[in-house]
Amino acid sequence: MISVKAVLVVADGMADVPLHNLEGKTPLEVAQKPSIDQLTSDGICGMINVIAPGVPPGSDTAHLALLGYEVEEVYSGRGALEAIGSEIDILPTDLAFRCNFATVDDNFKVIDRRAGRIDNEDATELAQAISNSLREDPPDVGNVLFKNTIEHRSILRIGGPNLSVMVSDTDPHQAGVRLLEARPLDRSQEAKETADILNTLTQRFHKVLRNHPVNEKRRKKDQPAANIVLCRGVGQLPEIDPLPLTYGINPAAIAAVPLVKGVCKTAGMRLIPVKGATGTYETNTVAKARAAVNALKLHDFILIHIKATDLASHDYKPQKKIKMIEKVDAAVAHLLKNIDRDETVLAVTADHTTSSVKRQHSGEPVPVSITGPCVRNDDVKKFGERTCAKGGLGHIRGVDLMPILMNLLGKTEKAGS
Ligand SMILES: [Zn+2]
Repeated sequence: MISVKAVLVVADGMADVPLHNLEGKTPLEVAQKPSIDQLTSDGICGMINVIAPGVPPGSDTAHLALLGYEVEEVYSGRGALEAIGSEIDILPTDLAFRCNFATVDDNFKVIDRRAGRIDNEDATELAQAISNSLREDPPDVGNVLFKNTIEHRSILRIGGPNLSVMVSDTDPHQAGVRLLEARPLDRSQEAKETADILNTLTQRFHKVLRNHPVNEKRRKKDQPAANIVLCRGVGQLPEIDPLPLTYGINPAAIAAVPLVKGVCKTAGMRLIPVKGATGTYETNTVAKARAAVNALKLHDFILIHIKATDLASHDYKPQKKIKMIEKVDAAVAHLLKNIDRDETVLAVTADHTTSSVKRQHSGEPVPVSITGPCVRNDDVKKFGERTCAKGGLGHIRGVDLMPILMNLLGKTEKAGS
């Protein structure tokens, strides 16, 4: 018996809604994507309600669902997933927050939530100053780590006993209003103490930052000072069974953005770094496909994540979204040409709809297409939101995708005798 492997391509937010300036078509319907259409024509397709009908998924919950996890049972916040994807060690008892360097005035009113999208160099120096202060005068609350990731983004990890995820954000999520005080979201002592810790750290970081030479230099150049750290999205690691344990597979992931890397790592997937994979419009999608073909020598399940399809809808750039879909197609073309199609399942989908009209994630289902040995094909020839709705898979949920793929790999167990 041959052993079947699978490659799953997830284009972030690739599904969309009909757009006026595309004459009522979606970007997927306008893009030239002969290879994804070929895959669809050869295989079976359908629609996925990633979380549930009408529920707009986050990229983290969406990927958890597509990897077969019941989100309602396992999801415990975004912060920890992003931390682990940013190569920050995290224990199950740690809390992690997603943070922004931001600009506040003397009354703590937020002027710029991203401190003028501060560059990596300035952000690294400021994060270093915070780390030094934490080392010289360790807070008595436990083990605190602060690390910048990309531009204004950073992670705050708090480790210690008696912490709780039931705390509110200090980030007001908009400019023009005051920094928020973290509040306990339940009556527990742990939530109260965690909120106190977060408020104390916020003030401490502000003292380190406000007159730091980097900020003096920024003021002279008329750049907004990065004088506050705003925290949001607290999370703990989800307690999930890794994929190798659940399905007996040896999985790997190719992704650039920390959040998706974090989900994949938590699911027990090896992360394969790829030169030129950036998570931006410039990303080299063919390099990702090439890395996947290579990785098939050692792994039997590979997820390729491509981010920028989502960015284009948040930015309302339909033409850029079309270009990005065509770059996803280039990756699929490379895969179709270079995998052994007699023993490899190839699937393409999106983690959610990102509506270019709403400029945010939206609750419509996403198309999915699967081809491979022994796949029962249907009559659909093109990949898109309306064509795949007529496909042989019908409407499935996000958590159904892994069992469907694993069935094709011969990795599922029989129900009953
Ligand atoms: Zn997403």
